[in-house]
Amino acid sequence: MSSDQQSVAEKGFFGEFGGSYIPEDLQKVLGMIADEFEKYKEDPEFLQEFRHYMEEYVGRENPLTFAANLTNRIGGAKIYLKREDLNHTGAHKINNVIGQALLAKRMGSKRIIAETGAGQHGVATATACATFGIPCTIYMGKEDIRRQSLNVFRMELLGAKVVSVEKGQGRLKDAVAEALNDLVENYKDTFYLLGSAVGPHPYPTMVKHFQAVISEESKRQILAKEGKLPAAVVACVGGGSNAIGAFAHYINESEVRLIGAEPAEAPTVTQGSPAVIHGYKCLTLVDENGDPKPTYSIAAGLDYPGVGPEHSYLKVSERAEYVTVSGNEALKAFQEMAREEGIIPALESAHAVSEAMKLAKTLSPDDSIIVNLSGRGDKDVDMVFQLLKDK
Ligand SMILES: *Cc1c(COP(=O)(O)O)cnc(C)c1O
Repeated sequence: MSSDQQSVAEKGFFGEFGGSYIPEDLQKVLGMIADEFEKYKEDPEFLQEFRHYMEEYVGRENPLTFAANLTNRIGGAKIYLKREDLNHTGAHKINNVIGQALLAKRMGSKRIIAETGAGQHGVATATACATFGIPCTIYMGKEDIRRQSLNVFRMELLGAKVVSVEKGQGRLKDAVAEALNDLVENYKDTFYLLGSAVGPHPYPTMVKHFQAVISEESKRQILAKEGKLPAAVVACVGGGSNAIGAFAHYINESEVRLIGAEPAEAPTVTQGSPAVIHGYKCLTLVDENGDPKPTYSIAAGLDYPGVGPEHSYLKVSERAEYVTVSGNEALKAFQEMAREEGIIPALESAHAVSEAMKLAKTLSPDDSIIVNLSGRGDKDVDMVFQLLKDK
């Protein structure tokens, strides 16, 4: 590695985690993206454009809703919901997608590519590309395409080209590999838009930058409502993008507890150990050969064997706490949120809701908890119907 590339990689470290463990040709391309991101991230015109789309297109700022019924029934701390479910397209993913697509536009990219597993990131990316008029190609494993045909149709409606990846097991990992091949071949005019706070530098830093809008708003909102900071912020953790966005503006407020809820069926942070996967170092579940272990969560968005490098660091440095929530507990919280508050949360978000309900009981009524409601649950209603029927 040249000293130039070395310094780019070093910027992406959180303690021992993060970095960029990728072939040299890819390193060069990501180094270019990192430089452009550095150039624009504090640029007033760029920030103004991002803010404009957040307000006029995504519908921000979204509310911090007091969950009065749930709070009364549980007793203890007041539960507030940060309503990412009310964003256009129904989840937090759009914040990051708009940010990266704006960067791609500034870089003069002629096309955007992305990978998707369950299809949520693909749909968000196709949405941004439609508004910005940028051609969009989404790589998706053939097995995932079969299981998520409605999301494939959504992406096509939005004008994206969905490429079926037949290699390997036809899953997310294979789609990522194909997207990276495309990037290396077409880097001159192509931007790779990554969906979570994972992957090699600069993606974890970039995704956090755009998702930090969540806690920028929630901090202002909770201070207006309560006159003090919350006792805790709770968010679900898949790759970690909604959680890092929900934590960002509280990381330096040491009295605020930061709690990540991960699925008991994919306990990457709580049970993982440091290893390099997918081009970066993080806490991860690997088998005896050092390969990522297959995981399964009822929440497709949480079903990932690694986790963002900053979460890995927040865990080992003990700044944040990570707990597991089972699929059954999430299912209960899903129903409870619907019945008590008239809000159907995404199954991913229901993991955070479940943890917040446990925590509220242990705190005083003078305290408050912010739960990041990362998305709405319409997409999960079919699955919950099946799960409850089979019980
Ligand atoms: C994708 C997704 C998640 C998980 O991704 P993170 O990067 O961990 O935030 C959580 N909730 C919803 C609604 C999602 O769509």
